[in-house]
Amino acid sequence: MKKLINRPEDVVREMIEGLLALYPTLKRVRGHNVVFRSDAASIRDTQVALISGGGSGHEPAHAGFVGDGMLSAAVAGEVFTSPTTDSVLAAIRAVTGKAGALLIVKNYTGDRLNFGLAAELARAEGLNVDHVVVADDVALAHEKETAGARGLAGTILVHKIAGAAAAEGKSLAEVKAIADEVINNVGTMSVSLSAGTSPSSGRQSFTLSDDEVELGLGIHGEPGVSRARLLPADDLAKKLVVPILEATNIVPGDPIIALINNLGTTTVMEQAIVARGVLRYLQSSNLKVERLYAGTFMSSLDMAGVSVSLLRIDHRLLAWLDAPTSAPAWPNVARERPGDFHEIATLAPEGAARRPVPTRTPGRFDRTILACCNALLAARDKLTELDRITGDGDLGVNMASVAEAIRRDLPSYPEDLAGSLQTLATTIQNGLGGSSGPLYAAFFLRASGTLAKSRENDPTSWAAAALDGCEAVSELGNARPGDRTMLDALVPFCTTLHDQLQSGASLSRSLQGAAQAADEGAQATARLKARRGRASYLGDRVLGHPDPGAVAAAIWLRAAVESLSA
Ligand code: ADP
Ligand code: MG
Repeated sequence: MKKLINRPEDVVREMIEGLLALYPTLKRVRGHNVVFRSDAASIRDTQVALISGGGSGHEPAHAGFVGDGMLSAAVAGEVFTSPTTDSVLAAIRAVTGKAGALLIVKNYTGDRLNFGLAAELARAEGLNVDHVVVADDVALAHEKETAGARGLAGTILVHKIAGAAAAEGKSLAEVKAIADEVINNVGTMSVSLSAGTSPSSGRQSFTLSDDEVELGLGIHGEPGVSRARLLPADDLAKKLVVPILEATNIVPGDPIIALINNLGTTTVMEQAIVARGVLRYLQSSNLKVERLYAGTFMSSLDMAGVSVSLLRIDHRLLAWLDAPTSAPAWPNVARERPGDFHEIATLAPEGAARRPVPTRTPGRFDRTILACCNALLAARDKLTELDRITGDGDLGVNMASVAEAIRRDLPSYPEDLAGSLQTLATTIQNGLGGSSGPLYAAFFLRASGTLAKSRENDPTSWAAAALDGCEAVSELGNARPGDRTMLDALVPFCTTLHDQLQSGASLSRSLQGAAQAADEGAQATARLKARRGRASYLGDRVLGHPDPGAVAAAIWLRAAVESLSA
């Protein structure tokens, strides 16, 4: 187990100390892991207090939802352990006044017992306390043999809506009815790619192989109701949404909101992809999605996965969802209907009309370029592996995708060599990311410019143009041969070609010599430390492995030579 903690037995207390430091509007009840609004005393006679809580490990739930317009207090138990009755009672005493308090309890036996007994004791002290139980889990909705549906991320929607209603001054009975309305209209279903690891046991609660996911799981490390094959995100989104629609009787035409909840370590990128997939599926099912939320609301330690919650709403519930809150973990920004994947085209400068597509006869240039593209496509895995070792692993895929783009655009390139190279630069500029993209675009742009100005149109002037291209790469990237970059293949190639042609060698001999110089230059980079590019951060660790960009250059240069010599 690797975690940023001190001692496993201190995690809850130290987390709360950190939260108090981060959010100075929160206070703690002495002797208890209870966090409450520091202004609780001044509002408790006019506003119903909302109290929630449960085991820790679900952060930001519940302390992150304490604030104006959401919870008045949150009670934290040990990790995945219900808080004690005493702590719940301490929370009730801290925030309950004449307006009374509503306890929002997730449906787990321990929570029901401890919150239930605390409410009983508080009533015996003369406090006006009621409670609701959230059981939004649709995976266990039909289970008769278990304790029933669990309380999951839908609980946060209860906090938000009931919290906004309480802030408006609604009575305890009214706030309770509104909370129950949310509870009766919300459903949640989750998928996990890997289980979380408890800080005390140091063990994962279940294990999944690389191609498996667990569906319908809870937030305490309990396994789900079924296992499935890992599917694309859109298919998983549908697998989550369909049972929720069934369980909640949400039908086409219903206005709803969707909440995508990170169960722990799902990247923001994946959350957005799932949110998109869920929205698309809901829209294609003719549901009116009024709000779409994604983020971490109710996690399960470091579990990788998400839950989806759907809530049927009306304009009242929507207004309470939109009401501002000072609770740190609520996304206050999501107050509009989700868009239809808005896009605007980038504006081309005035007069930059598209060049008409000339008809052209594919000749030697096309054959050579195609040979280079095919060689790069064939080398994809090799370049990926090399760039994985000394870079970020994207070079193989990037070169392959620009090769595809060039193969696609080539038929519309202009007839002349200078024009073709300029268009090639444009294709590369559009289609090749990373560092290689701008460097190769500069290479071909400069070479094209030299050729356009050149009076001759022979191999020697091509070689001179290519040398100018190298100069452009050098200027843009501030690198020289010997710095362990693509220049260690490009420069030997161009220099050898130029020099051999000038000394009277035949074209094919010169080309062969140049290709060999590029290969040797690329291989020699294995003995060089990088002074440019991301490999420069690795120091000695790159030694023994050639530079991927130099190898890529040698590969396409060799393919060009073979094609020209054929
Ligand atoms: P990134 O590192 O941005 O992912 P790529 O994977 O597209 O870039 O390309 C990596 C290659 O780019 C390196 O192997 C190296 O040959 C080349 N490169 C990096 N920086 C420079 C530079 N400043 N000048 C010339 N070539 C460079
Ligand atoms: Mg890279």
